Amino acid sequence: MADIADFANDIAQAHLDRNIAAARQPILVGVAGECEDCGEDSPRLVHGRCAPCREPKRIRRY
Ligand SMILES: [Zn+2]
Repeated sequence: MADIADFANDIAQAHLDRNIAAARQPILVGVAGECEDCGEDSPRLVHGRCAPCREPKRIRRY
């Protein structure tokens, strides 16, 4: 019979599997240019957006 430790191990394993799958995704190369959102020059645009604009959760301080 499965106990709470078994359920915890299943959840931890599922979490690890998701993180490994996410880490295996190919990383887009990107190009240099001007960001379509903020207009700043960036050495690496992906789909026309710079890194800060691609990560809206971060608070930008500049
Ligand atoms: Zn931007």
